[in-house]
Amino acid sequence: MRIHALDEQTILKIAAGEVIENPASVVKELIENAIDANATQITAEIKDGGKQSIRVTDNGDGIHPEEIDLAFTRHATSKIDNYEDLFAIGTMGFRGEALASIRAVSDVTVFSRQAEQETGSFVRYRGEETQREAVAHNQGTTMVVEHLFSRIPVRAGFLKSSLAEANRITDLLYRFSVAHPDISFKYIKDEKLLLSTTGSGIENTLTEVFGPDVTEKLLPLSYRDAQIEMKGWVADTSLYRGNRSMQYVFVNRRIVTEPMITQLVESAYGGKIPHGRFPVYFLWVDIDPAKIDVNIHPTKSKVQWTEDSSVFLPLKTEILRLLEQQQHQHILTEKEEKKPERVNLFTMDEYEDRRRKEAGARHVAEPKTPYQSRQKPFPQERKSPTPEQLPLSMPVSEEVEMPSRIFEGLRLIGSFHKTYVLFEDAAREEMVFVDQHAAHERILFEQLQEEYRKRELRTQMLLVPQRLKVKPHEKDALESRSGLFSSLGFLIDPLSEDTFLIRGIPYQIGRMQDPRNLVYALLDTLEKSVRSQEQDLEERLMKMACTEAVKAGDTLPDLSVAQLLSALEKTKQPHTCPHGRPTYVRVPLKQIHKWFQRIPS
Ligand code: ADP
Ligand code: MG
Repeated sequence: MRIHALDEQTILKIAAGEVIENPASVVKELIENAIDANATQITAEIKDGGKQSIRVTDNGDGIHPEEIDLAFTRHATSKIDNYEDLFAIGTMGFRGEALASIRAVSDVTVFSRQAEQETGSFVRYRGEETQREAVAHNQGTTMVVEHLFSRIPVRAGFLKSSLAEANRITDLLYRFSVAHPDISFKYIKDEKLLLSTTGSGIENTLTEVFGPDVTEKLLPLSYRDAQIEMKGWVADTSLYRGNRSMQYVFVNRRIVTEPMITQLVESAYGGKIPHGRFPVYFLWVDIDPAKIDVNIHPTKSKVQWTEDSSVFLPLKTEILRLLEQQQHQHILTEKEEKKPERVNLFTMDEYEDRRRKEAGARHVAEPKTPYQSRQKPFPQERKSPTPEQLPLSMPVSEEVEMPSRIFEGLRLIGSFHKTYVLFEDAAREEMVFVDQHAAHERILFEQLQEEYRKRELRTQMLLVPQRLKVKPHEKDALESRSGLFSSLGFLIDPLSEDTFLIRGIPYQIGRMQDPRNLVYALLDTLEKSVRSQEQDLEERLMKMACTEAVKAGDTLPDLSVAQLLSALEKTKQPHTCPHGRPTYVRVPLKQIHKWFQRIPS
């Protein structure tokens, strides 16, 4: 092929691909335009994950009838005049590319009216065709984008499932409504209203969006120096998620994902929340626009810092300080109230009784799992201290009876860091460290697996069912996978549009203080493994459940150290936890001699 100049349409389509990757990027551009136009009410409506249609309505300034065509031309913008302005951008958009790009890859209809105009304008762009009319319209603008990429089948093929595309948009709407708490947002997905905020300030918005369960656990953060201002909330250590979906960062009110900030915050939480879980935080960073470059990528979710990243360092110190204060508070309240409140558990009979009484008022779905009577997960009734309760210096002479091979003849030395139990293996001249959490995970996991295989998973009913507030995509997951949850021993009923009731949880892990974290974590796991086989998925969920149960720290069965070891020994894979970490480590005397340089290393 000879070298030739590309025609305008082709250039547009190529460029459009940079700005418009998927339906969510259309929504993002349209909402940013509405914000730039000073809207106080914005409604976003999508159908079929945005593939069929996206409609964004605002009550902003509107577009002058004679400027509509211009707005849809590449590099036409009302927001900057020249290159210098790029460095002091206060508005969201500025490249003047979005509308032109959207037009190149879809059918766009615009309705708009400015305050001074008597009638509104209607323009429809469909390929080369343009249709115009004068229409009645409220002040502001409505953009309708249909058949995205339908004229570019290659790109349409790259789109994910409608559910996945819709989830992206849902997440975006949550972020916009938090980033702009003075704007009232409505989000309608396939004719269902999924999100509605009143635009009455950040605190109300957070409660409207996430519910009091979340906002109750937020600690306010505020920091400012000559270079940077950081404000917002970080969750206390009892609230966390299985992914980063509840980490919100806004730089100069722009929604960003900033790895540097993520890393800093997560390192502050290191060791304070379970491994593999992610902290929850909402953070507004304000910095002189001249010091950052938002021009780095057309979708503008990454910012380039011209300052060095040390400007963020105070963030970690601040969070550490807040979490420490939280701990002090907790220690105080614990002393006053003796013990933190536990979720009450009651028997199936009591539960059935209650259910019958309730049934008159409301239909309650019949549980899908057969229940069995309550049993102790471990046969022995004797109350012996759990390793966590062991005093640091154990009587050195206590001989632990070990029926088995792996842990035969061990003498208990004590416990360390509330995690490791130390033994002496005199015969083999070794010191043995048992990670009691890993060991419990292994034991629980195999018990769950065993019951699951026999379809005998039992449910532990909660005396007080726990309300579970869910985001729309979590709701989808709960509804579409309800069979999976009930086969694992959960009993979760819908309560309202965005709330479920956890009535029962798997028996083996049924001693959690707050089962909601577990359900959230399971939902996150489901989301991450959309393509897994059903069987893998069940396995993963069980692993997850064990981790969550053990990490919650309230679930250690009443086991003595000896019972722990013998239960571990009876498992099929006693050497590792379900995630493959070792349950115990043996340190040979030789190694210890080497540390002390008694023998050359
Ligand atoms: P940019 O936002 O980068 O300027 P766009 O292509 O997104 O570029 O929009 C082009 C222009 O169209 C904007 O500069 C603005 O003047 C006008 N415009 C777009 N959407 C709206 C809206 N919802 N209300 C008012 N004006 C709008
Ligand atoms: Mg724009």
